[in-house]
Amino acid sequence: MTPTGGRRRLLVRDLEQLATPAGVSAPLRGNALAEVEVIEDAYVLCNGGSIEAVGRMSDLQSLDGEVEEIDGRGLCAIPGLVDCHTHACFAGDRVEEFALRAAGASYQELHAAGSGIMSTVRATRSAGPDALAAVVRKHRSWMLRAGTTTFESKSGYGLDRDTELASLQAIRNEGGIPTWLGAHAVPPEYDDAGAYLDFLLVEVLPDAAKLAEAADVFVERGAFDTAQARRYLSACGEAGLVLRLHADQFTEQGAVALAIELEARSVDHLEAIGADGVAALGASDVAAVLLPASALFLARPMPPARALVEAGAIVALATDFNPGSAFCESLPLVCSLAATQLELSPAEALAACTVNAAYVLGRSGRLGRLARGYNADIVLLEASDWRYLAYHLGGNLVAGVVLQGEPAELG
Ligand SMILES: [Zn+2]
Repeated sequence: MTPTGGRRRLLVRDLEQLATPAGVSAPLRGNALAEVEVIEDAYVLCNGGSIEAVGRMSDLQSLDGEVEEIDGRGLCAIPGLVDCHTHACFAGDRVEEFALRAAGASYQELHAAGSGIMSTVRATRSAGPDALAAVVRKHRSWMLRAGTTTFESKSGYGLDRDTELASLQAIRNEGGIPTWLGAHAVPPEYDDAGAYLDFLLVEVLPDAAKLAEAADVFVERGAFDTAQARRYLSACGEAGLVLRLHADQFTEQGAVALAIELEARSVDHLEAIGADGVAALGASDVAAVLLPASALFLARPMPPARALVEAGAIVALATDFNPGSAFCESLPLVCSLAATQLELSPAEALAACTVNAAYVLGRSGRLGRLARGYNADIVLLEASDWRYLAYHLGGNLVAGVVLQGEPAELG
């Protein structure tokens, strides 16, 4: 055995700063969310796919054997970003709907133009497995360019057996963490949500549970109510899936109480959550995944992030990347929105899309920090101070990404 175990070593040296959520615990709540360790004039040493050491250049011991180097001058290192809520598996786009909406079209006019989620369902159903894989690969490359090294993606634009399973397979094949969102909307071939749920649970769940890690449901007027969500999630939980909910996006429907009752991993959106819901989440282990790019895209109120942090809730941030309500794959932009719209500090934003997002995806202790033993996923920011992550609104500051110990092609 060589001292490195025969694995390839990579040294990122002479960094202006290295910033990482402090400590070792996960998830982070309250004041701990803001604790970021910053090392000036720093290095990161990767050994194979994991981090061997981080520290100050002045403390770097001489390294035996072959070590590849990256010059970190002018750069700051942060952990690879973790996007724990996306809808990256869809065909077609909604650019026509976007333009009509921007020009003030009414809901009826948009409906008459054939837009909305069902237009994406039609395009996704007719795409076929190879085209779905290609589109997830494209979206993955966009995310990587923005510093996302781990992404979750939901299905939910098939709403039939074959396309839902093909979506989960495509997400998995492209390195994503698949979540089954069969209960996204009721497709037109079903008269009511109950009959559609019968179909999902009998015909799709047994195979979806082999491909997905989690199940998700859209609890909202016009989608699924809490009784239907309870039925769907209970069956998915029995099949071994982690439970997540689209909750309180437009109206409070009781989804937060249901999530706590079912010991779900997360409730996502929460633009319409009230004070009772905030307090209940603060006392629970259910994470609050906030999606400010979606609120911005739809010109909706922002979720009460500050109140959630102060109540002790587990707060994570994600993009909600999708063609209709958040065509945005950039977690750096989400961090800017967190700092300018959600009253979160850059440090809280960083922890929310690294350590806490990794918790939502069941990967605490492996993802979300630059520390010994964690996966060697590193984002290099072209900045003299790591807080440019949130400060540079809409800036393209990702100069490089290291993915599992290898410099990534950003395309
Ligand atoms: Zn979503």
